[in-house]
Amino acid sequence: MTSSSRSRVAVVGGGAAGLSVAWELARAGAEVQLYEASDRTGGAVAPLQLGAGNQLDGVSQLSALSVDAGAEAFATRSSAVADLIGDLGLAERIVSPNPAGAWLQLPHLAAPLPATGVLGIPGDPQAEDVVAVLGAEVAARAAEDLSAPMTWTAERASERPPSLGEVVRDRMGEAVVEQLVSPITSGVHSAAPDDLAISAAHPRLYQTMLRAGSLARAVADLKAAAPAGSAVQSLRGGMHTLTAELDAQLRQAGASIRLNTEVQDLRQLHAEQRPEHIVLAADLERAAALASPYLQVTDPPTGVPSGVALVTMLVRAPELDQFPRGTGMLVAPSVAHIGAKSMTHVSAKWAWVGEALHQQLGPGHHLLRLSYGRVTDDPDSGALGLNSSDAQLVRAAAADLPALTGVDVEAGQILDAAVVRWPRVLPGASAEHRHRAEQFRRALASQRSASVSGSDHQPQLWAVGGWLAGTGLAQVIPDARATARAILANA
Ligand SMILES: Cc1cc2nc3c(=O)[nH]c(=O)nc-3n(C[C@H](O)[C@H](O)[C@H](O)COP(=O)(O)OP(=O)(O)OC[C@H]3O[C@@H](n4cnc5c(N)ncnc54)[C@H](O)[C@@H]3O)c2cc1C
Repeated sequence: MTSSSRSRVAVVGGGAAGLSVAWELARAGAEVQLYEASDRTGGAVAPLQLGAGNQLDGVSQLSALSVDAGAEAFATRSSAVADLIGDLGLAERIVSPNPAGAWLQLPHLAAPLPATGVLGIPGDPQAEDVVAVLGAEVAARAAEDLSAPMTWTAERASERPPSLGEVVRDRMGEAVVEQLVSPITSGVHSAAPDDLAISAAHPRLYQTMLRAGSLARAVADLKAAAPAGSAVQSLRGGMHTLTAELDAQLRQAGASIRLNTEVQDLRQLHAEQRPEHIVLAADLERAAALASPYLQVTDPPTGVPSGVALVTMLVRAPELDQFPRGTGMLVAPSVAHIGAKSMTHVSAKWAWVGEALHQQLGPGHHLLRLSYGRVTDDPDSGALGLNSSDAQLVRAAAADLPALTGVDVEAGQILDAAVVRWPRVLPGASAEHRHRAEQFRRALASQRSASVSGSDHQPQLWAVGGWLAGTGLAQVIPDARATARAILANA
């Protein structure tokens, strides 16, 4: 691209999606202007500085340790995120989690998550670790899936995409949904199984089930076909070092990043840069509002007005050195005595965090992250979550720790606690949302065709981000990079 023909592109939103699209464009020579409403780029990929308040003895020594405040890993079922990490020159920093895996808390027991599962669905319903959690009778009902006729079809899914809950309930019974699948979807995806389109939960599960004639066999096939190693990975130093590197390389490539600049009307951008392309990389509500004057969409995608509050705690508790609950705990919604929906034992899961704590504070220190707020919570129920105060959340986390870890952690052992709120966790997982998102994509394509053929030279509109591509970096990043390539091809 010569300097006179450099495409001018404005990117609205500097999360993982906006940064990826902007980076891809800038390194190909486009003139990129990125607008970010907050005071930092990265969006839901963000750092949390431990001991930042330095209010507690001993913790002040921790000034050099940042961990992830939001996204902490990426799925490895495709190489998309690792490819970007490699392109940025960070490949040697990729780390795998402790293979010990997470545990499951049910009302009657705490046990390691069965090893053969995908999204909690057992690949072998009669495996010992599955029977240990479900009991023999429920496991036998789940195993009926292996011989029951397959009534789900491709046509049925194209008429109305089924939810994960519907399919698992039909094939394996309600108890599998409640006891194995629901703790995972609510802990990891912040959605109940019935609100999660099966394609959003796992893009290949439904098709594989149709081919295999059984849900359990599909899970076993997917497990066998998965790349060797763990299902997720991260970066030494935290996932936020990925977005920090994108930001740095973007600036080096000559892009301009405007922080604290919330775009409220796309005409604002015309006046400043006269962009030929505008990429909406903001969250769902704001992207839809910005685009609406230019698009013919009857039903714009709607969001889920709920989120989570995360409490990260630094504790001095040598009893946790044995990692009594593996890398953490997923709590079934039916468990009444624990307020958190999940806990990550961060320093058990990621060796670099454990090593940093050990080096800086000495042995016996641990980092735990507890998550509060389920999408299914009734806002009037008083359940802990996004709207609870910091003090309520920290108190609840301190009270939950013994049940979650199986160790008597007392209040005096908690050295520091930080609360981070994420108001929009999962905007794009229901079947209805996915349908509307596709309509939105088609409306954008029509706007682009009209702007090319029209005489008024309107900028072409594009959109990227979790609400459109599907939640998770493994979906957001390749979609953003593909969008950048499409813009370059159009330039
Ligand atoms: C707590 C939490 C944990 C997660 N854990 C994982 C995980 O472990 N692994 C994983 O793969 N995924 C995880 N995710 C999901 C993943 O983080 C998201 O899918 C992804 O980061 C979304 O990126 P995005 O750029 O689409 O959106 P965002 O990160 O939300 O970025 C949007 C950006 O746009 C800006 N913006 C909004 N409106 C405007 C405007 N009008 N003008 C300018 N800027 C604007 C916002 O300030 C924000 O910075 C997690 C998400 C959360 C919240």
